[in-house]
Amino acid sequence: MSGVLFVISGPSGVGKGTLVKILIEKIPSLALSISATTRKPRIGDADGVTYFFMTKEDFEQKISQGAFLEYANVHGNYYGTLQSTVDDLLDEYAGVILEIDVQGGHLAKLHYKDAVTIFIDAPSEEEIKNRLIGRGSDVEENFELRLANAQKERESAKDYDFHLINDDLNECANNLIKVIKSYIQ
Ligand code: 5GP
Repeated sequence: MSGVLFVISGPSGVGKGTLVKILIEKIPSLALSISATTRKPRIGDADGVTYFFMTKEDFEQKISQGAFLEYANVHGNYYGTLQSTVDDLLDEYAGVILEIDVQGGHLAKLHYKDAVTIFIDAPSEEEIKNRLIGRGSDVEENFELRLANAQKERESAKDYDFHLINDDLNECANNLIKVIKSYIQ
């Protein structure tokens, strides 16, 4: 196990997914850990690619087996990082990204003291609202809850190592790449 663990968190709709995609493309020694979730797949989701989709029963069984490095209830569904996934990736890559919520980020930091935590925020509350509406599926799927959680996440991420604002996508991606490259080759 030699890789560096990077935790990336931020409110729903802030563009974490897009930024992480850019990171993986630009830094070949970096891998993204695929999480497990009980939320229903959206259009564009694929099992084993975007998430490992599980029933609540299967997820709870994995909890009781101690299979998760961290897990949390986010917007009414379970999301979790499998320890086995992270162990395998840390063996193989210089850096491993966990794109997880702030509760999970704090738990991950307890296990991996050297983990680097990065919070991505939107320039304003209004911007988050617009981005969530633009995404469509979240309007039906607990939109209000996602919005309320954005403020809570921001509050509890005060102890994160880095805070970046995703105003201009390219600029934010470049800043993120700079942070990551300061820890790995
Ligand atoms: P979405 O449903 O939009 O894919 O994700 C909702 C939230 O769950 C995002 O804030 C995302 O960072 C978080 N999330 C995704 N995977 C995990 C995980 O494995 N653990 C935790 N704690 N949060 C996660």
